[in-house]
Order: sequence, then C-alpha cells, then structure tokens
Amino acid sequence: MAVRIEDQTIYLGVRDLLQPVYRQQMLSSFPLPQRGMLGREAQTRVQKQKERRFGLFHSEYAVSRSYAYEGYTFHIYGRIDGVYNLKNRVEIEEIKSVILQAVEFRRLKIEQYPEFIEQVLFYAYLLQDELQGKEVAAYLVLVNLINDARRTFPVDYNRLQVERLLFRRFAHILANLQREQQERLRREDELKKIRFTLPEKRPQQKKMMRAVASSVEQKRHLLVSAPTGTGKTAAALFPAIQYAYSRGKKLFFVTSKTTQQAIVQETMYPLLEQGLDFHTVYLRAAEKMCANKVFFCHEAFCPYIADYRDRFLQSNLQAELEAHTALLPDRIYDAAAAHTLCPFEVSLDMSLSADLIIGDYNYVFDPGVYLRRLFARKDYSDWILIIDEAHNLYDRGMGYLSPEIRREQVQNLIGLYEDKETKVYQKLLQGLKEIMRLLDSLELEGDIHFAGQQYFKVELNTRQWEEAFLLYEAAFVRYLIHNVKKRIVLMEDPAEKLYYVLRRFVQIARLKERAFVPFYDAAGILKIQCCDPSDYLGRRMEGFHSVIAMSATLDPMPFYLDVLGFNAERSDVLQLDSPFPAENRKIIIVPGVSTRYKDRMQNYPKIAEIIKNTVRQRKGNYLVFFPSYDFVQNVNLFLGDLNQKKILQKPSMKEEDREQVLLELKRGNEPVLLLAVMGGIFSEGIDYSGDMAIGVIVVSPALPKISYERELLREYYDEKQDQGMEYAYIYPGMNKVIQAVGRLIRSATDKGVVLLIGERFARDEYNLLLPDYWLHGSGDVEITNEYKEAIRSFWNRLDNT
Ligand code: SF4
Repeated sequence: MAVRIEDQTIYLGVRDLLQPVYRQQMLSSFPLPQRGMLGREAQTRVQKQKERRFGLFHSEYAVSRSYAYEGYTFHIYGRIDGVYNLKNRVEIEEIKSVILQAVEFRRLKIEQYPEFIEQVLFYAYLLQDELQGKEVAAYLVLVNLINDARRTFPVDYNRLQVERLLFRRFAHILANLQREQQERLRREDELKKIRFTLPEKRPQQKKMMRAVASSVEQKRHLLVSAPTGTGKTAAALFPAIQYAYSRGKKLFFVTSKTTQQAIVQETMYPLLEQGLDFHTVYLRAAEKMCANKVFFCHEAFCPYIADYRDRFLQSNLQAELEAHTALLPDRIYDAAAAHTLCPFEVSLDMSLSADLIIGDYNYVFDPGVYLRRLFARKDYSDWILIIDEAHNLYDRGMGYLSPEIRREQVQNLIGLYEDKETKVYQKLLQGLKEIMRLLDSLELEGDIHFAGQQYFKVELNTRQWEEAFLLYEAAFVRYLIHNVKKRIVLMEDPAEKLYYVLRRFVQIARLKERAFVPFYDAAGILKIQCCDPSDYLGRRMEGFHSVIAMSATLDPMPFYLDVLGFNAERSDVLQLDSPFPAENRKIIIVPGVSTRYKDRMQNYPKIAEIIKNTVRQRKGNYLVFFPSYDFVQNVNLFLGDLNQKKILQKPSMKEEDREQVLLELKRGNEPVLLLAVMGGIFSEGIDYSGDMAIGVIVVSPALPKISYERELLREYYDEKQDQGMEYAYIYPGMNKVIQAVGRLIRSATDKGVVLLIGERFARDEYNLLLPDYWLHGSGDVEITNEYKEAIRSFWNRLDNT
C-alpha cells in the first residue's frame, strides 16, 4: 500500500484489503520457500489447461478501479487468476492451493477459507464496475498439492454487501493513517526530550551530520569519505533517526562485518536508555540463530518451524518482544526458543515492525537471501538505507551476480538417479542429462592460462539454458510432491541444491549485457562473471527514500559513485578531513624496494630489514600489513632475530581470535609485532587506540591477485572507459592501503609512524590516490629511502614538544 498525502490518494492491491486470518493449518511438510513455488506452479498449470480447453478463459486478467471515500481516492488494483467473458455475464475464478490429506480435502468447506472468499468477492466487485454492471459470478478453485485433486466452489456474490465491506475496510485504513499521524506528533514531542549527545564534538562530525540531515530531508543519496575518528556511525545515525522518528520513516543499517554492528549498538544505547521509542532489530545469520539440533529448516526435522506461521500469530511473542526497544539476537533467540519457534524466522518477522534494522549487506542486496518480507512489497520508499564501509559493496555486489555450475555436481546427481526406475527420478534424470548435454556442447574459444588453470570463453545459448532449467524445475516439483507423499525427507538434498544453483544461473544468464561474461574453467566449472554490479545495486538503492554510503575512505569518489550504481543526479559526495592533528603522525614512503610479484622473492630480506629497523627505533606495538598470507609467511622467515613477540594472522582466524590478539596488544606486557593481511579482520573496522599501535607498516599496494576473473574486469573497464587497470586493481588495492593506515591514529592523542614500502607508492598512479588530508603541510608525506633518519627525527620532535 502506498499513500500520497499531497493529493490524498491511497494505492492498494486487493490483498491489502484482506483481513489476516489466524487459522490452524495442516502441517505442510514442504520446506517453506518451496511451498510458494509449488502453489504458483499448480496455479499456472490450471490456468494453462483452462486456456487450452476454453477459448473464453483469460488468465491474469488485470483490473483496477478508483473510489472516493471521506475526501480520499482509493486506487485499487489486482490480477484475477481467470475470467470467462460470456455474452451476458462474466465468471471469475481464483485458483488457490492447499496441502491436505485426500479425505480432508474431500470434506473441506469453503467457509474455512474466508480470506480466499473475500479476495474473489472484491475482484467480482471491481470487475463488475469495469464492465458497467454486467452480471458476475465468482468461483474458488482449490487444488490439493498432495494428490492434484481439484474442487470448484461457487461463492455468493451480493454487490451491496461487498460494497459495505469494501467501505468498512477504507474506514479502517483511514483510521490507521490517522493513528499514525497522531503517533508522529507524539514522537515529535518525544524527540525534543532526547539528547543526541556526541562523546567528542568534532567539526568533521558536525559537518557530516548536517550533510546527512540535508540528504534525508531532500530524499537524496550521500557518499561520505569519513577518515578514522570522525565518529561516522553517530554522524549518520543521529540525523537519520531524528528525521525518521517524527516522519514515520524507518532505517536499515547494513554492514559487511558483524563487528561494525557492535558500534551501532554502542551508539544506539544512550538514546534507547533515555527512552527513545525506536525499535531496533539486529539480524544474525540463520546458522547462528538456529535452535534446532541440526541446521535443517524443514518441518519434518525441526519442531521450531513446524506450523510456524500459526503458532507465531497465536503466541504473544510479538507483543512480548515489542516491549523491548533493542532486540539483540540473544534476546530474540531466548524468547523464540522458549516458545519452540525458530529464532531466525522470529527475528525476520520482528524486523517488519522495527524502526531500525541492523544486519549484513545480504539482507538488502543478495538476490538469493534479501529480506523478502520487505522487498517483495516493491515499495520500500519509507526506508532510509545506511551502508557502512561501503567500499566493500563493490566486491560483494559482483559476488552476488557471478553464479557457477559445477560439472561434478550434475554428474554426481546423474550417478545417484541412473539406476532408479521410478518415473519421478527418470524425469529428473532427463533434466540433468539435458544440462550435461549443454555443458558438453559448449563452444570453447581461446585457451587462456592463469596460475596453472585453463580457461575458455563461451557463448551461452540462453534459450536452451532456460529450457533445460524449466525441464529440471518441472521434474523437481514432481519430485518434491513425490517426497511428501512418501514422507521422504532428505537433509542437504543435492537435487534441491542444484535447483537453486540453476535458477540463479539462468536468472543471470538472461542479463545479456556486456557486464556479464560467461566462461568455462577447465576444472569443470561454467561461470558467469559479473564485471559491473552497478546496474543491479543502483536499482535496489533507487527504491529507498535516501541512501547514505560511508567509509573511512571512498577514494576516488567518482569510482565508487560509478561501481555502486548511484544515480548521479540524486547523489552528493562529502570528503572529510581527518579530525586529528597531522603532526601526531609521520607518513614515509620507502621507494627503494620493488614489491612486484616477480621481484618479491629477492626482496623479502630487505623488507624484513626495514620492519626491524623501524621497530628498533621505538619500543611498542607495530602492525604490518601485507597483500597476501604468502607474503606474511615469507617475510616472517627473515624476522627471526627480532626481539619482539610476533603474531601472524592465519586464514582460519575468526573474530574470537581477533579479540584475543587485541587483548594481547592492549595488555602491553611486551611489545607485539602483528603481521596481518590487508582487507582482513585486523585491517578494517577495528580500533587500536592509544598504545595498542605506535606504527603501521604497509608492504605493497594490496592489488587483488591476478586471476582470470580479474582480467575480465580489466578488459571490461578498458573497453567501457579505458580504466581497466584502475577499476580492476589499483583503486580497490589502494583503498585497502588507506583503510589499513587508518588503524594507527584513533584519537587526538594517538601518535605514530606509517611506512609505505614499495616503489609503486611513489608513482603517480598510486601516489595521487593518497587522501588529501595526508598532504596538508609540506613534508607530511616523505618519500625517502633514508627512512631511519626520518623516523628518528619524528620521534625526537615529539619527545621535545
Ligand atoms: S531452528 Fe530455524 S534455523 Fe534452525 S533448523 Fe529450525 S528453521 Fe532452520
């Protein structure tokens, strides 16, 4: 439903007019997402049959009418499943699916489904108006998914009664709108009592707050590069909350790492403590919210999801949770588990009534797992989106849109079903063999080698892939029904996994744009590489009231505006200076070492030497960031004689391990040298305040590893705008460098040195990407191989001031 206050118009679908029904349903035994798919498939099947048999049958008949009520215009729209337009009258049919045992289906009375009845009656009313009074007869067709049985029920249509019902619903909607209006006024008063106090008032933070306030006020987007220490979380949240709170808007705060969510929690805490009535829901991944013994979301395996919808509605859990303004995952988990309801589903349900949702990027952008409860409504213009550490969205976006099919996966399934004679498996087999045939008949072009792997370019025949998918889908639906009838439940069902893989693959294959490049990896993988997610990301973002994208660095801004898909006409950018005194840190570029791949081996000892010489100048903790784990290991081999405790980041390290390392750095018992990778858990979104670090050494720009996929990006952007190297390698690589350097100075009193090791840092392509606020005074960034002298004089100066 959408309301346009300016001209008092309310747009609503017929479904928005229906009363929710709390009805005990039979256990369905279908995994939840597949229930909808099976229903749609049954409906389409019935529609097609009827179209074939009855020439007068029109499926998906669009209808829309407008009605005046109490000074408002109600514009109602919908699609009738089937319409027979006869000479003197019309007959309409709504097709619904149920899941019942055969005997129950035979006995059912249509009164058990009042919401279906209302829906068909409203359609009859709208259509009669459209056809100017022609007689209308309404029917409900119920299909039982268990046995394909079908029953048709005539529904009594009395125009006057339906009209009364319709106008009662209008009155109800208007009453709700008025209540919302009063609530808004109350909130405006409430807001005056809340102190939005910033811990440290910094001019950069104030500047950002003004920019955010103006963006949300004018429904514009904003990209903010806010260096470490700006306090960007509060600067984005406070004005957005002030706007949203009194205007009935809502916020969605997305992050790429869970640690950033802890900062949001800390920022919100003082506001909620003062009584700000702003309901906040934190979303945590399903696996981590699972209360069942095994993570398998199926009614037959999980009591927490069996009859979930009805049990949730009948419980008082929603009211119980709504009594809290901050719904942290643990709180939701405990309350949901106590009712034997799935904690993850409860968190999603609670998010619908929340004022602020905090969660991973996936809930907004991943086409496979985005929050359907919100985005399926299409209109989410009441929501303001805040994207934290937005530079990460470029890679994430490409990942979402780069599907792959593994030959081995298809082959294994064929092996599994080959000996089964049941028809249902034979049908699956047909679909699988067609997919294998398409894989076998790919025309491979070129012969490209990267890191010992062989790749080929391919042309996809989209029509053939779609047909193969439809063949497999039809067989898969039969297979699901077969499993329900036979009460077969498979955990980790490979047929189901392949279904979702294929569906994503075909969806992306349809996007025939240049940005999606299909290729074949000789290891047996057919992949579509997305080189440019901007179109997809931009479309999602355009639906929001405003989008605030922020990061410690979004340099260069035009690059991020472009690849994240911001609508340039509706977007502003803000580049802030560091809030901390430049004289508290010294940045030195050491150009005398090549860190290029081909030269690395011979330069490991030299790099180790520079690290040792830096550390020896002043006792304390140092952070050294490398572009890869290999690099960490190899340089470490030459750090043996260093009189300092070393901690090496390993690929397996998780957030819990990071906490341990941070404790070690904080304790300060003995100085620590942390060797870590750029773009990892130690180089972004983390505070090393005070003496936790007195030096940061960055070894080489963190250029993404050369791979066939990256080379496709380079080709694409070369062709598009002659900036292949920059878009594929340099910009993302330098962003990681600037993020890593930002770990050093976290407060006005922090002091330390930064070394950038590598000749590329001195070259224009890289050097010009260093943030302006690094270069305020002459000598702020020194390019010298006499780094020891430069470090010594920096510490001496600080000691003498
Ligand atoms: S508790 Fe929820 S997440 Fe866990 S298996 Fe059941 S439905 Fe899935």
